[in-house]
Amino acid sequence: MVLGTRAGAAANPPIRSKVLILGAGASGISAALKLQQNNISDIKIIEATANVGGRVTHQPFGHGSMVELGANWIYGKGKNPIHRLAKRYGLKTAPSDKKKVVYFTEEGSFHQSQGEKWSKDFNVVMKKMVRIANDQVDLSSRTALELLGWQPDCPVKAAIEYFGIDWELAEPPETCSLDYAAGTVDLVSGSFPLGDEFVVDQRGFNYVLQQEAAKLANLGDADGPVFYFNTTVTRIQYDNHSVTVETTDGTIFIADYAICTFSLGVLQNKDVLFEPAFPQWKREALLSFHMTTYTKIFLNFEHAFWDNWQFALYASNKTKQGDYTVWQNLAGPKFRASPHDNILMVTTTGKESVRLEAKTDKEIEAEVLKVISKMFPGQTIPTPQQIMIPRWHSNPLFRGSYSNWALGASIQHQENMQAPLPVADHPRLWFAGEAYSMRYYGYLHGAWLNGKEVAQHISQCYHSDQCPSYHYHPLVTSCYADTQQHRRSLMQSRSLPNPSSHPYQSHFSIH
Ligand SMILES: Cc1cc2nc3c(=O)[nH]c(=O)nc-3n(C[C@H](O)[C@H](O)[C@H](O)COP(=O)(O)OP(=O)(O)OC[C@H]3O[C@@H](n4cnc5c(N)ncnc54)[C@H](O)[C@@H]3O)c2cc1C
Repeated sequence: MVLGTRAGAAANPPIRSKVLILGAGASGISAALKLQQNNISDIKIIEATANVGGRVTHQPFGHGSMVELGANWIYGKGKNPIHRLAKRYGLKTAPSDKKKVVYFTEEGSFHQSQGEKWSKDFNVVMKKMVRIANDQVDLSSRTALELLGWQPDCPVKAAIEYFGIDWELAEPPETCSLDYAAGTVDLVSGSFPLGDEFVVDQRGFNYVLQQEAAKLANLGDADGPVFYFNTTVTRIQYDNHSVTVETTDGTIFIADYAICTFSLGVLQNKDVLFEPAFPQWKREALLSFHMTTYTKIFLNFEHAFWDNWQFALYASNKTKQGDYTVWQNLAGPKFRASPHDNILMVTTTGKESVRLEAKTDKEIEAEVLKVISKMFPGQTIPTPQQIMIPRWHSNPLFRGSYSNWALGASIQHQENMQAPLPVADHPRLWFAGEAYSMRYYGYLHGAWLNGKEVAQHISQCYHSDQCPSYHYHPLVTSCYADTQQHRRSLMQSRSLPNPSSHPYQSHFSIH
């Protein structure tokens, strides 16, 4: 390959390895472990931040507490690999009970039992959505809700709907696919049906990833370390023989194979230059899925002026969704990290998050305090001692929080998004991460499982000189004969963690 070194690039010789892993988030670490397990030890991992973890990250807050800015819940137990890691490393968690919700309205008093009834009604509709999703053309989740008789025609119902859909998928039902997003079993009972746990460990959720990453340290050799932290990739060149990567300081890495684990948001933007540019079918696929934003706003007060609930929903008269609807009490007995802190967490999603990211912390604090004063009329609300607002959307290393399956994106698009490049018997540049997980996109366990899966494919290329088949569609068509069959298998399989077997097989494949 022609190196194509830019003028001014460092004169140091290129750093060579068999496999390059771009990004040290969950998928990057699980991919490296899988390669190691498959006796591929010549690996380099390039990461822009100073740490392992990516979107699993925490920060000190208040007077001795640690809060998770990204992933916080382990969705499901059983064979969920993240649950297993949590058990292995004794991660402290608290059960999340989304059924025990307190309702606040602008009017002040509200019969909680009415909220509970509407919430039950909504859950019944959600279960029906899973059933109708199987055999229809894909609809918007809004259309499905309406067809099933659900209308968010009052503030509390709008808040319940927001909690059930927007708060999980970080997008409103209008844009969410029914078949692949809101109508999947995940939203009703979790991917693994044994409940979900909220991580409260003061070592941070990414402690488990760091411990796993430590197993890779012995891979370093005379050619340098395995991990290159604080190293930002700016350019990725790929051809039939290798992948060449350039970083901000001009260092060149060359490998036989690379796994790019950058988020969907990063690939949708122009933060990294790919040469040659992605083919049209790849771009269409990447742009057909949505990189959404889920923002946690942390507020620490001198004293708690609220009761001991776990979740509260604030129903605004405007019925505008995303208006600081979902509140979490992190001062409750199982959630409190420090006796000196009284932390409330409120979440915003989607466009509302994007709007807020353009504001200063002080401006956001003023908006939040206005809402709190409506939730607690007649009370003097203290000024928060601290406020913290992660800005995932504007961060060039993430460009959002996680992916969502938007209305209009098909299984063909998903396969095109996953497809390695260049299209050849022996592709060199592979893609991994949460967005590429057909079954568990968005979730941390999706990222973990997908990293392993892609590493397994590369191991096969490497050891047998014959890559596994993969699917890509130069032209995505609406008349995809197998779609219903694929969809059914996908729906059935989303509740079963079985990364080794693909339920779907396409007619259009390489080989
Ligand atoms: C606010 C929020 C809440 C979430 N809540 C949950 C939850 O409760 N439960 C759950 O299961 N999941 C949750 N998720 C999703 C979960 O965090 C992700 O699915 C998962 O961490 C993604 O891992 P990944 O390896 O695919 O990507 P990433 O973690 O994004 O890893 C990619 C890595 O690439 C690096 N990188 C990017 N660009 C460059 C570059 N140019 N050069 C070098 N390095 C680069 C990044 O720094 C990053 O470390 C949440 C995410 C967010 C943001």
